[in-house]
Amino acid sequence: MTRDPVCGMDVDEREAKSKALTAEFGGQVRFFCSAECRDRFVAEPTRHWQAQQADVAQYKQHHQRHRGT
Ligand SMILES: [Zn+2]
Repeated sequence: MTRDPVCGMDVDEREAKSKALTAEFGGQVRFFCSAECRDRFVAEPTRHWQAQQADVAQYKQHHQRHRGT
């Protein structure tokens, strides 16, 4: 499972791949729930990419906090 960087919902990589709902950005392939999300990402990849990177950083911090206790 991975996350749609546009709407934030969980996406099955294999399903997304089979429907060609993928786009490459920043050296990584992103997966999307729908063509609409894919198109939105392709139109403005930096915005969504940065938003997701911030999310990932927060998520990691959250987990580190848990491990530390
Ligand atoms: Zn989506």
